[in-house]
Amino acid sequence: MEYSPVLYIVIPCYNEEAVLPVTAPLFRRKLEDMMNQSLVSADSRILFVNDGSNDGTWELICTMAQEDPHYIGISQSRNRGHQNAVLAGLMESKDKCDITISIDCDGQDDLNAMDEMVKRYLEGNEIVYGVRSSRETDTFFKRFTAQAFYKLLNWMGVEVVYNHADYRLISRRVLQEFQNFKEVNLYLRGMIPLVGFKSTTVFYERHERMAGKSHYPLSKMLGLAFDGITSLSVRPIRMISGLGITVSFISFLFIIWIMVQYFRGETVAGWASICAIVCLMSGIQLICAGVIGEYIGKIYLETKSRPRYIISERTYEEKCSKQKEELQAEQ
Ligand code: UDP
Ligand code: MG
Repeated sequence: MEYSPVLYIVIPCYNEEAVLPVTAPLFRRKLEDMMNQSLVSADSRILFVNDGSNDGTWELICTMAQEDPHYIGISQSRNRGHQNAVLAGLMESKDKCDITISIDCDGQDDLNAMDEMVKRYLEGNEIVYGVRSSRETDTFFKRFTAQAFYKLLNWMGVEVVYNHADYRLISRRVLQEFQNFKEVNLYLRGMIPLVGFKSTTVFYERHERMAGKSHYPLSKMLGLAFDGITSLSVRPIRMISGLGITVSFISFLFIIWIMVQYFRGETVAGWASICAIVCLMSGIQLICAGVIGEYIGKIYLETKSRPRYIISERTYEEKCSKQKEELQAEQ
């Protein structure tokens, strides 16, 4: 018999009573479709994560779960934000399924990319990133800011997949390693690539929201962007050190010029000394701030206590000594 993995579709929902009745049946139909093709197992589920909604979202999820066992739901005790809701869903699924696909509940991301994601997994990929093929439905402003943001992140040394949001397939194996990333400031798009393993991308069209309204106004987008940079990069601290060195160098040149002016007698009394001190001190202070920053950066990375290595393959079967004893006893 062919291998059909158990799939959990993880869907974060925050105040989505307007859109959920529209999109839930679409997810269900997609799952049915994939089960009929034996692409995924009949034990697959659609897992809704209620992110502390204060409308009827959770009641809706409960009703759906009662009517159809393929729908299941968990609820966060309060609103913690999109990234945390996705993480909660992924961690809930990691021991129950072979693969997860996370997707927003508003129907913006094309469900039909799921088939291809699963196929890519069956070909041996552990992570499959959904990438938007076009941004035509986005406003010019959103497109422009998003592009600038990806460039900025890359420049900061953060590895992100271009035009990929949080629509992706992750295997159980990757999730099991990912649970060791204990940080609380989440930026999943930047963190998942850190886990490694074989990965690929599939392309899809992004549509307009089917109903309800976006929960990502500009302020939240900027917040996520800032989180992305500061959670994954210590480059801003390095920039302070760099600035310190540059300012010191310029100050040094400036001080020479001041001295020349002084000896030529073209200055007012006190001007030269004050200027020299201001230049010198600002340079020294910035360098000091940078040095302190380097240490803070190190502490910051240590406090994340991320795994230091992840093994993806072995030429031998792992057996602990207890298992070995049991095997010997059997023989
Ligand atoms: N969401 C969430 N918690 C929040 C905000 C949003 O779980 O605090 C969910 C929301 O229900 C949706 C997804 O995150 O499924 C993406 O949100 P939205 O569509 O509003 O963002 P946009 O697509 O406009 O960036
Ligand atoms: Mg959306």
